[in-house]
Amino acid sequence: MSKVIIFSAPSGSGKSTIINYLLERDLGLEFSISATSRQPRGSEKHGIEYYFLSLEDFEQKIENQDFVEYEEVYPGCYYGTLRSEIERISAKGHTVVFDVDVLGGINLKKEFGQNALAIFVSPPSIEVLRERLINRATDTPEMVEKRVGKAEYEMSFALQFDRILVNDDLEKAKRKAEKIVREFLELAPNV
Ligand code: ADP
Ligand code: 5GP
Repeated sequence: MSKVIIFSAPSGSGKSTIINYLLERDLGLEFSISATSRQPRGSEKHGIEYYFLSLEDFEQKIENQDFVEYEEVYPGCYYGTLRSEIERISAKGHTVVFDVDVLGGINLKKEFGQNALAIFVSPPSIEVLRERLINRATDTPEMVEKRVGKAEYEMSFALQFDRILVNDDLEKAKRKAEKIVREFLELAPNV
């Protein structure tokens, strides 16, 4: 079985920023495109950020057992990892990178065991997380408070991950992320 890398974090921790950095490095990584029943936002395209499915199609795929894991991350919004996506990436000899919510991360770790490196990206504090979400300017003040409230709950699962990556200084966090990925994949250390 090939190795996989799982990233989970409370929203606003900097997970996407760190994943995008790693995908640009020469590490043989490829992003697992999840399926979701939510609507595309902004410039998002089907098959790039997500496979955007209708609720009916998503439920049909649940029925067909097409998902390795899926969660109702927000009320009425499903997100899931398709088995076909893992096969597509592994067939190319690439290492699959998952960006999933905390419960999805724990479920994928159970599925892949020692073949998975599960990384929890943590903000330095809840207050800093709130500031980043406000500065990111993609959410209403109510949504920011919702995400912060959920973050406190999600932080309680951090110890179930293989590694906790505290994202305080971004450059340091990127270097640290690359180091632990290289160790896991048995690649030469970063220069
Ligand atoms: P997530 O994917 O976890 O929701 P993002 O990667 O979108 O988080 O990051 C949330 C916001 O915080 C973005 O505006 C990003 O540029 C910023 N950010 C990420 N890491 C840091 C950091 N170490 N210091 C300051 N701002 C950061
Ligand atoms: P967004 O709507 O902001 O793109 O994503 C919301 C949340 O859904 C993020 O925490 C993201 O990690 C999570 N997510 C994305 N894809 C999946 C998936 O396939 N499974 C699970 N469990 N969560 C996912």
